[in-house]
Amino acid sequence: MKRILIVFLLFISVFSYAQQTDYVDFLKCEALIHFKPDSSKVYAEGKYILKILKDVDSVFLDAKDFKFNMMLPYYWENNAFRYSHDGSKIWMIGDFKKDNSYDFWFEYQATPKKALYFVKRNNESQIWTQGQGKYTSNWLPSIDDVNDKIEFDLYVTSDENFEVIANGKLTDKQYYDSTITWYYNMQKPMSSYLVALVIGKYNKKTETSKSGIPLEYYYYPEDSLKVEPTYRYSKQIFDFLEEEIGFAYPWQNYKQVPVHDFLYAGMENTSCTIFSDAFVVDSIGFNDKNYVNVNAHELAHQWFGDLVTATSGEHHWMQEGFATYYALLAERDIFGDNHYYFKLYESSVDLGRQDLAGEGTSLLDPKSSSLTFYQRGAWVLHALRSLVGDDVFKKAVKSYLEKHQFTTVETSDFIQEVERFYGKSLEQFVNVWIKQEDFPVDAAFGLLQNESTFINEYLMVDCQAKTSKCEEYLKYYVSDEAKVKVISQMPELVTNDTFKHGFKVRQAISQYVRQIPKEIKENYETLLDDKSYITIENALYNLWTSFPEDRAKYLSKTRNVVGFNDKNVRLLWIALNLNTPFYQADNKQGLFEELVSYTYERYNADLRMNAFNYLKLMNACNDACKSNLEEAKSHHNWRMVKFAKDMLEKLEDKQ
Ligand SMILES: [Zn+2]
Repeated sequence: MKRILIVFLLFISVFSYAQQTDYVDFLKCEALIHFKPDSSKVYAEGKYILKILKDVDSVFLDAKDFKFNMMLPYYWENNAFRYSHDGSKIWMIGDFKKDNSYDFWFEYQATPKKALYFVKRNNESQIWTQGQGKYTSNWLPSIDDVNDKIEFDLYVTSDENFEVIANGKLTDKQYYDSTITWYYNMQKPMSSYLVALVIGKYNKKTETSKSGIPLEYYYYPEDSLKVEPTYRYSKQIFDFLEEEIGFAYPWQNYKQVPVHDFLYAGMENTSCTIFSDAFVVDSIGFNDKNYVNVNAHELAHQWFGDLVTATSGEHHWMQEGFATYYALLAERDIFGDNHYYFKLYESSVDLGRQDLAGEGTSLLDPKSSSLTFYQRGAWVLHALRSLVGDDVFKKAVKSYLEKHQFTTVETSDFIQEVERFYGKSLEQFVNVWIKQEDFPVDAAFGLLQNESTFINEYLMVDCQAKTSKCEEYLKYYVSDEAKVKVISQMPELVTNDTFKHGFKVRQAISQYVRQIPKEIKENYETLLDDKSYITIENALYNLWTSFPEDRAKYLSKTRNVVGFNDKNVRLLWIALNLNTPFYQADNKQGLFEELVSYTYERYNADLRMNAFNYLKLMNACNDACKSNLEEAKSHHNWRMVKFAKDMLEKLEDKQ
């Protein structure tokens, strides 16, 4: 015991003066992994290969709370090496010599508290990972520091009914008893936070990109009709980005997998994006809440984040800003220039507001908000391209990726590359757009006004300043976005004519005209037929409250509409039905039970929170509802946890 302690102190001292990456390069990890879903345990064994860059007496891997059975150098000589585990790191101790390579084996079990999640979906097990911000080292020995890139080959054993999806290419499947071992192979290295694994019930659809890369779209077996709307434009986005970035997609294939109760919208694991199944939509849901932007954003990260990775939080925008910008370009390719400029306009307004609230930061501040990292980052690239021109911009991006591929980067690596092709200093630009705290909102508006007549018109239409023209705007030539602005400012101007305009205008009517005047009642009722679950939800509620005599009619018309994955329309429909005493009087108990059933663990967090909210509104959170709330306090998603705690507190206050 004592001896280990002395050795321990000794090697701590070596590393207090230098990064481990100066001494050692971990090259490759091969791990054979299996799970016990019901016990939430991971069992694994495998091999690491590393190369020593400078003589050193110890190296470590991050490994949180593992039970190691052994960790032995592959060529075990005269007890020259030992290992020690301190709860967060596994240390290999011995006489490591410069330029030598070493292999060692490991075997362990772990019960990860985060980064790998065991969830239930419709009573079926699903396992998925999230490495960024959570550390892969909670379930696989790896390096928390992004700066050592490793080739990870995962071999995963699962029950034969499940699909296993991981980084890289599936090279083999071996059947044994009622299990299958899936062999995934990577050819290139990546930072540990990008390791991914999903196990669940899935089917998949495959396409091939223009350049020959296999594109794999995973979906739940019952969702075959949602595959097309969910993954709409995927191949177009892929082909567009590969061409636009000018650097061939760097991995063997590209997989996208929806998972239950994911922590974020999506995560760009190398060659294997995991995204929230809330984005799995039918063709109506596509109009309201589609996956296109997240799809393009995570794909762009395969270059900006995965191929080149920011060294530290200070340069985080090199990932998020680039992914946001290239997603916007992909959306421009699909939805057109006006869409592109409108999104830039919206983000400049948000950034301006952030500054007014005194919350603006330099883009290089690691504590910046997501708004800054993502949207200001994207703005930097838009403004830079406007300054230096398409040709210089594209050459610089390509050259930057070529130079730094499979390594880590800082802001200056990119700026230097642009300066080289531009032939002039960008110091002034960097000071204004990247370094200073305030977002240069005037310069941004100047660019928008120079480049987009659509934005000029949008800015001109303002019914808070001058009202005389606003009636005209609703009738004539201005864009639908401008009409939406008028409706939001003066909903009383909506007439029967206004309903003739497009989807967005009609949605705005449902959103802002809440007390419905009799004169537009008939047209308003047609909103219940719109191809939008948001419009239908708003319209149903507003019609039900405005015209009590017609409640039965509205409920009958919408009784089969479910809505998004959070069943937004269905839940509203149940709540309204329960509050319409004369309508389907004998079915009330069944509907109430249905509402309560949506609070159980097997449903997704958004649906559960929706159901809890309605029960709270109706003052009807019964014992089952309360016990589900109690259980939700230990959910893996912090939003669900916070929601459950808040609601329980409020319920207790009432008693
Ligand atoms: Zn991102």
